[in-house]
Amino acid sequence: MRLQGLILFFIMLVPAFGLQAKTCELSISGNDMIQYDKSTLTVAPDCDSVKLTLHHTGKLPVKQMGHNWVLAPGANWKEIAMAGLTAGESRDYIPDDDRIIAHTDLVGGGESTSITFDVSKLDPGDDYQFFCTFPGHYINMNGTFVVQGGS
Ligand code: ZN
Repeated sequence: MRLQGLILFFIMLVPAFGLQAKTCELSISGNDMIQYDKSTLTVAPDCDSVKLTLHHTGKLPVKQMGHNWVLAPGANWKEIAMAGLTAGESRDYIPDDDRIIAHTDLVGGGESTSITFDVSKLDPGDDYQFFCTFPGHYINMNGTFVVQGGS
């Protein structure tokens, strides 16, 4: 009888741990001075996905001071950031490049935007970089995206 009870306990326990994907929330702001408020964003080891919110705390319009948040491998990020200029305004300066892991929409002063993306396939040993692809902004607006190692 005790064994049956134990088996039942595990049957109930497994779905609770196995199926619940954890979404972690991160936020970052951009201002009218071409700055993010953070140079590092860290993802805890137990996060399956991340909901990232970008706030534009400035007042300038999107055509003049647009900000987005783009995530790419650290080795290629500058190349991808520079390709934003070629992608142009009609594409929100997002290049057609499958090395981009995630990106938000482009927002202007007073606006916010969010994205949710999978981080379970990112390698904690790798370098990842985030940046704004509005022309010229990546020089100031970039930072390190750290995926902490799991247990
Ligand atoms: Zn920007």
